[in-house]
Amino acid sequence: MSETLGFIGLGAMGAPMVRRLLEAGHRVLAHDLNAVALAAAVSRGAEARGGTAAVAAEAETVLVSLPTPDAVRQVALGPGGLAEGGALRLYVDLSTTGARVAQAVAAGLAPRGVVALDAPVSGGVAGAEAGTLSVMAAGDRAAFDRIRPVLEVIGANTVFVGDKVGQGQTLKLVNNLLAATSWAAACEVLAMGAKAGLDPELMVGVINKSSGRSFATERFAAGPVLSRRFDFGFRMELMAKDMRLALEEAEALGLVMPTCSAAKLLYGLAMAQGAPGADVTELMRVTEGWAGTELAAARRNEA
Ligand code: NAD
Repeated sequence: MSETLGFIGLGAMGAPMVRRLLEAGHRVLAHDLNAVALAAAVSRGAEARGGTAAVAAEAETVLVSLPTPDAVRQVALGPGGLAEGGALRLYVDLSTTGARVAQAVAAGLAPRGVVALDAPVSGGVAGAEAGTLSVMAAGDRAAFDRIRPVLEVIGANTVFVGDKVGQGQTLKLVNNLLAATSWAAACEVLAMGAKAGLDPELMVGVINKSSGRSFATERFAAGPVLSRRFDFGFRMELMAKDMRLALEEAEALGLVMPTCSAAKLLYGLAMAQGAPGADVTELMRVTEGWAGTELAAARRNEA
């Protein structure tokens, strides 16, 4: 069934999600602070609105895909935000911004008769393009069941995590903390192999058929690093943000996370040395610098 949907945040993830929703026959009322991103969505069939409140004045269901907890708070509850739009009944947050902001936004919207679901996604820009994301939704079960067909346009693996708002966020943060930590470890060992003179392509290929393989070695090392394009499509600062949020939740639970905390330090050092806006796969380039080697150079030296 075709619906009128609001969508705020047309970035690396939001833009392909909106394209898929439009292709599935939905009407999308969109807003982004970035005029170029908004114009691109309009060229695909979305209708621009001048602000978030204007979107929520017309759309009963609004999805958001925003970079930070502050942006989510601002868009949902800030001046000119979604809470000021009279039509809004269901708010679905696809961003990764932690359980606490999800709960705060849900509490802020509830008195206005708005139900909030957190539904963070995993699978990267390629997953958003292909509609193969994992969607980890939590909150009111009936609201989830109603919006499920829409979520299934953007995700091939849509899971109801639990009825407590924020549980989707917690699962997503646990996943990303593991992905980020395994990428940090992969960078160190790949630099070690290159320094020892292993052929980088052969090394990554064998690892990806052996017990050391992971999403990081398969999707970060094999493509973006070996091609030297460093173009996975997820910024290092967003990965570091996810690690910070995850470790804050861990600390609130009284947990010590020595391995993940050490990995977070690596991202901090890498960002201090380069651009935080760099692709997450650039962590390999920074690690190569510390090791005094380069995956591509090691291959050339071998030849
Ligand atoms: P992005 O920075 O590319 O896009 C965010 C968009 O939000 C930008 O276009 C920005 O202009 C817009 N925006 C920011 N503040 C706004 C405001 N106040 N009002 C309106 N628009 C505003 O980020 P992204 O990579 O698309 O990620 C979005 C979310 O999805 C993040 O929480 C991220 O952690 C999560 N995520 C990203 C990936 C990925 O691979 N990129 C994967 C899974 C989850």
